[in-house]
Amino acid sequence: MPTIAILYIAIGPYEAFWSPFRASCDRFFLPECPKTYFVFTDSKKIKSGKNLVVTSVEDHGWPANTLHRFHFFLRQAMAIAAHEYCFFFNANALFVKPISIEEVLPGPEENNLVGLSWTLGAGREPDGFPYDRNPLSAAYIPYGQGSIYYQGGLIGGNSHAFLSLTTNLAASIDQDASIDVTALHNDESHLNHYLLDRHPRCLNTVYGRPQEWEQPETPKMVFVQKERVLSPYFLFKLKRKSLCFLLKSWYGRLKRSASGKNSETTPND
Ligand code: UDP
Repeated sequence: MPTIAILYIAIGPYEAFWSPFRASCDRFFLPECPKTYFVFTDSKKIKSGKNLVVTSVEDHGWPANTLHRFHFFLRQAMAIAAHEYCFFFNANALFVKPISIEEVLPGPEENNLVGLSWTLGAGREPDGFPYDRNPLSAAYIPYGQGSIYYQGGLIGGNSHAFLSLTTNLAASIDQDASIDVTALHNDESHLNHYLLDRHPRCLNTVYGRPQEWEQPETPKMVFVQKERVLSPYFLFKLKRKSLCFLLKSWYGRLKRSASGKNSETTPND
């Protein structure tokens, strides 16, 4: 059976998701495969142990805690490479039904990569996808390109392909940082840019449905509603920051179109 590295980030209050995630992953995600968990955390409660490698990271808040995921993964690149496949899941992922090798492990015709999409077959116009339209960002995708919008909460592949993705996206994020640009949806924007022409195996909502959605009726993995676990104060802080970030980016676009400069930028100023 192929060996699997599971990558997981739990910084700040997200540590609360770890125990149920691990129990559900052990039980339902490729149960026949040997798994090693790589957890990137500032928690004092999550400790290295059997099949569990903990890497200490600092809490730099949002969006750094999610944006810097690829830099975190690179810290364990050698150990990850020792496994045949590798998957990252958002902290609030929870498996509720068995998922088999045939369902999720990609082949060479899929560039050995796996993504998750909520727009697959939904009849949505790609020009309406929230790709980053900022030509200054390394995550830029012009209108007229792309056909699938990938969620950042599930990424996988064979370890070689996954580590190439990781190295590439860490460099793109650094490139943006060097000119003080942050992509519209952080790591997710860079992921969409990377996967644009790579045709990964694309999983649908059965493999990652927000818990509060009613369809599909029998998902195999859900993203637990954060409000059920995280404190209202933390979520208020997070949402306030996300809202400010989006408002700033919209304001940047408005300013540029008013001044006649080309299109939409997302400056960090
Ligand atoms: N994350 C974390 N601490 C934080 C923010 C994010 O551990 O303060 C990790 C966690 O694994 C989370 C992932 O980064 O699931 C993505 O976070 P974000 O809030 O951007 O994801 P969303 O749930 O909004 O898709």
